[in-house]
Amino acid sequence: MRLAKKLFSSKKLYDLPGTEKRFVEAMRENAMFHYAHCEDYKRILDEAEYDPSKISTLDDIIDLPFLPTLYFKHHVLQSLPDKKMLIKATSSGTSGAMSNIGFDFSSLWLGLKMVIRVGKYHKLWSLKPQNYIIFGYQPTKENNTAVSKTALGFTFFAPAKSRTFALEKSPSGYKLNWERVEKALAKCAKSHLPMRTIGFPAYTYFLLKDLKERGVHYQMPKGSMVTLGGGWKQFYAQQADKKEFYALVKDVLGIDEDHVIEFFGAVEHPILYTDCRCHHFHIPCYSRIFIRDPDTMRPLKNGNPGLINLTTPMLRSAPILSVMTDDLGVIHDEPCDCGLSTPWLEIIGRVGVADIVTCAAGAEKYLKDE
Ligand SMILES: [Zn+2]
Repeated sequence: MRLAKKLFSSKKLYDLPGTEKRFVEAMRENAMFHYAHCEDYKRILDEAEYDPSKISTLDDIIDLPFLPTLYFKHHVLQSLPDKKMLIKATSSGTSGAMSNIGFDFSSLWLGLKMVIRVGKYHKLWSLKPQNYIIFGYQPTKENNTAVSKTALGFTFFAPAKSRTFALEKSPSGYKLNWERVEKALAKCAKSHLPMRTIGFPAYTYFLLKDLKERGVHYQMPKGSMVTLGGGWKQFYAQQADKKEFYALVKDVLGIDEDHVIEFFGAVEHPILYTDCRCHHFHIPCYSRIFIRDPDTMRPLKNGNPGLINLTTPMLRSAPILSVMTDDLGVIHDEPCDCGLSTPWLEIIGRVGVADIVTCAAGAEKYLKDE
């Protein structure tokens, strides 16, 4: 993992040309490791007659056989024994098939380096204590979803004065505790400390919309932030226009658009993508993204929509170095007003309608059961 460490130590987070050599070398190292330690992965590469030791350019990475995220929902692939896995993350809290990915120490270490660098760039670190409101699950021992883990993780960017969870565990499953959320919001508005909300875009949207309909408005303290994460897929189901969403945040919480920050990542690709102040997801040096034609799987030129193929050499524990999602996206080359000139990814939808339905049903179920 020497070369992966080198990549994850890069100082310029969004410098893709400057880190290309490091990226390609780390991918070769990672591919060779998984080829030698994961029988299933070796079989997949052998069947494709792909020699991982020959990776020397980005084009070679395009040719590297990718694994669909769906594959991980039905197969457990790992390159290290169980005892080396410090944590196991599953992909989804809603019903349906889940991916199980284990993380060993070295993979988590790289993840930590990444989170530190990303937090620094996007000014998420603060020594000032914050009141956190988490529009998500209260973590429990049984709750292994990456979503609840990441939500809790985000409360470590700045010390927590308080943490309020909107969804709480009850004997019949998770329930939304409306009263508690409203009480906490009212308290936050009166506090001299900033508030940070963390949550699924869909839940945050529903909650704010409901507050607005009931005529509730707050002016949250300076420095307060709305952060969105835990999967973008809910957004498609709700079809909330992002501009409308930012206006809602301003209206109900008194928080400006530049303090609304969105993250995305996936269990099968645990890279932390953070939107810039223009709400674009620039691609960080730790990963490269290829957009492929859904019919031929050939890579498309930037600007054309297609299937999103995510690549990273981050994990030693599982061969997730090139995964194919069922999301549609476009890579934009246009210069961004935030000052970065590197490409950014726009996620435009999801291929499988069934998934959207599952996800939306999951969100609505919690909200109805209040
Ligand atoms: Zn930007």
